[in-house]
Amino acid sequence: MKIFEEIESEVQSYARAFPRVFNRAQGEFLYDEDGNEYLDFLAGAGTLNYGHNNPLFKEKLLEYINNDGITHGLDLHTRAKGEFMQTFNEKILKPRQLDYVMQFTGPTGTNAVEAALKLARNITGRENVISFTNGFHGVSLGSLATTGNSHHRGAAGVSLNGSSRMPYDGYLGDDIDTTVYLDKVLTDSSSGIDKPAAVIVETVQGEGGINACSFDWLRALDAVCKKHEVLLIIDDIQAGCGRTGTYFSFEAAGIKPDIVTLSKSLSGYGLPFAVVLFRPELDLWKPGEHNGTFRGNNLAFITARAAIDHYWSDDSFASEIQRKGDFIAQRLEEIVEKYGEGNFTPRGRGMFRGISCVNGELAGNITRAAFRNGLMIETSGADDHVVKFLCPLTISDENLARGIGIVEAAIKEVCQQADTIPERKAYFPPLPLAV
Ligand SMILES: *Cc1c(COP(=O)(O)O)cnc(C)c1O
Repeated sequence: MKIFEEIESEVQSYARAFPRVFNRAQGEFLYDEDGNEYLDFLAGAGTLNYGHNNPLFKEKLLEYINNDGITHGLDLHTRAKGEFMQTFNEKILKPRQLDYVMQFTGPTGTNAVEAALKLARNITGRENVISFTNGFHGVSLGSLATTGNSHHRGAAGVSLNGSSRMPYDGYLGDDIDTTVYLDKVLTDSSSGIDKPAAVIVETVQGEGGINACSFDWLRALDAVCKKHEVLLIIDDIQAGCGRTGTYFSFEAAGIKPDIVTLSKSLSGYGLPFAVVLFRPELDLWKPGEHNGTFRGNNLAFITARAAIDHYWSDDSFASEIQRKGDFIAQRLEEIVEKYGEGNFTPRGRGMFRGISCVNGELAGNITRAAFRNGLMIETSGADDHVVKFLCPLTISDENLARGIGIVEAAIKEVCQQADTIPERKAYFPPLPLAV
């Protein structure tokens, strides 16, 4: 189809990596208009945790549409919304002893992040927000100020204010606890870091290259926040909804963040939907102070409720994710061992995994070779150097093994082609820490 070249903006990204016209999708498969089948390890960048057109949710959606259920409802109380909230409260919040109110924001991830940042600033009366190296929180200006990536930041066109960057876990090497530095600068009134309203963090940095922080680090971060009376915002937009093996990615750390953002796989069906969760005491919003026309995507409420009812009524789905996650981890270890540890490093947690390559060129060659063999898989990270495994959580064992096999074959092919594998670049040179 020529129309894409004729009038679609140059801003396109995923379409460049997968230059086909797709017209059908089911489960872990996408199909192009020539009938070619692709195994989907991109899964809408983490939006399709339950696969494409999950039949269980589709049935509920079709029934709702057939009955002229409300599609758009601003923030009106609707049955669909009420039932989603009830289910979310009973099956997600209460069993985890999480006492949160829900704010429905505009339907994209960055809408939820903007609301979370604004709330934290209004409550504390402070402007600064601590964010982390390689963090990604969206590309609207407030979220972008907390995002690390220079390619995205560079497009802002205005100065990005209101955030101070701190080193994420592992940024200065495995042996350095970077929360010690954060604690130090927040203690020292001459550190030059303004006392922040909040800290915003991902437990596994998705766009930043599948960097998983340790649970010890997360607990230490939580303690530093409490000590300095700074709000902790967990951006669970990509790591949440089961991706790391539990519904919320921070559960295993035993912490209770002040504010949590969710979007991507929340609707379960690829329908736009985002929420902010926060402690009731923080609910200092005045009516209508923050709004948005598309806060009531009722079709998303229907599928989101079905997703929770079906997959999160007990622990069996979580165990499945953990089992598959262990399988992926073990296979990635094998692959890395086979093709040289200096060139590839496995990363991640649960079914949020990646192979970090010495550079972006190598990673790109691998994903292109995989695509030629019917697998859609993308890269992320500072230099697009991490091959990012993000298949639907519902994928069959056979297709999971098959997809990883295609990546292994791609790595083999690319390594054989390259006479020498480029030297490892020093992306994150360890710096001496002057505390
Ligand atoms: C994708 C993502 C966002 C932004 O979501 P959009 O829907 O693209 O605005 C924010 N935070 C994290 C962690 C994400 O992965």
